[in-house]
Amino acid sequence: MRDVSTWREPVPPDGTMGEPRARGRFGEYGGRYAPESLVEACREVDEAFRDAWADPGFRGALARLLAVHAGRPTPLTPARRLSEALGVQLYLKREDLTHTGSHKINNVMGQALLATRMGRRRLIAETGAGQHGVATATAAALLGLEATVFMGERDIERQALNVFRMRMLGAEVVPVTTGSRTLKDATSEAMRHWVGATGDSHYCIGSVVGPDPYPWMVREFQRIIGDEARGQCAAELRTGVPDYVVACVGGGSHAAGTFAGFADTPARLVGVEAEGGAGAARGRLGVLHGCRSLFLQDDDGQITQAHSIAAGLDYPGVGPEHAHLRDLGRARYVTVTDDEAVGAAVRLARTEGIVPALESAHALAWVIGAADGGDLPAGSTVLMTLSGRGDKDVSTLKELL
Ligand SMILES: *Cc1c(COP(=O)(O)O)cnc(C)c1O
Repeated sequence: MRDVSTWREPVPPDGTMGEPRARGRFGEYGGRYAPESLVEACREVDEAFRDAWADPGFRGALARLLAVHAGRPTPLTPARRLSEALGVQLYLKREDLTHTGSHKINNVMGQALLATRMGRRRLIAETGAGQHGVATATAAALLGLEATVFMGERDIERQALNVFRMRMLGAEVVPVTTGSRTLKDATSEAMRHWVGATGDSHYCIGSVVGPDPYPWMVREFQRIIGDEARGQCAAELRTGVPDYVVACVGGGSHAAGTFAGFADTPARLVGVEAEGGAGAARGRLGVLHGCRSLFLQDDDGQITQAHSIAAGLDYPGVGPEHAHLRDLGRARYVTVTDDEAVGAAVRLARTEGIVPALESAHALAWVIGAADGGDLPAGSTVLMTLSGRGDKDVSTLKELL
């Protein structure tokens, strides 16, 4: 476990997680670096989203979809036995209990509803492990839209179950054979495909990445995690607000949604990245997939391949708002190894009866290591978002345990 960036002391509770500045800027990050036709398409998405987000009718319809189809609100679960062993009070925000098994559904329901409002008949998406693809296929089926999901050929081989689920739900899964044949290439291919289909299709990006307005819009759709957790903490915790708010970071969508609920409190925000996918902790300034942010690069500035046992953390960059929060010292970004994450997954299973996604296990590994190492003072209250359930990871875990 390594600490890579630090908080600014004292931690500033402020309005950092409001609307981005003009043209989707978070500090020096963000923006809309896309071909002409996509700039126009993004502008339309931006306008539609602003209009929808200000409309109580849209918000009400989305809240109802999330309640009756996705299982919201999700519970806040005290991890009693693990807390006792660690000497801290750990609470888990249970996104693993949503329909389709991860927080991805929050964003996808929002974007799918927006697409119907914009008169689109099809969703385009990219997927790595297949979680975002399954969520997109699910929302498309529910709302009567078509779905085309781009997926690297290597990921198609590795994630056979999710490929089947998408096809079962009626989505078209398009294999991507370029580059490393994984998520980065699937994203490039999906964007290229959207160029020729902006008239009837909405590109449903799966994290707080991509051109403006996606990083902001996706964070707003994930804000429900932080807002619910804030209310639940106020009711459950003696202190009302937890001392620490922790989430794993791939692109950073559920971390951003969680942090947003606590940005105006003194809670210390911690983003936990995979050692081999540490965009916020170790990336350098660059532009990829329409957005300026921090990316893993070689000496020539070429974006390099990320490596993590958790497919959802296998992205070589991080969303622009996380890059900004890091620069401000408002959030701190740390890394965890594959082995530490697997150990944490086993420990949660055996102390709390919950098998977490390997992505979520990264966040827990930091909590365990920080409690053991004294980085988390005894008695601290910790809110951790458990982003997904581990069913998708059983074949990976079976080979290791
Ligand atoms: C996709 C995924 C992640 C990473 O995505 P973020 O955009 O960083 O939230 C984390 N956990 C699970 C279970 C996922 O499916």
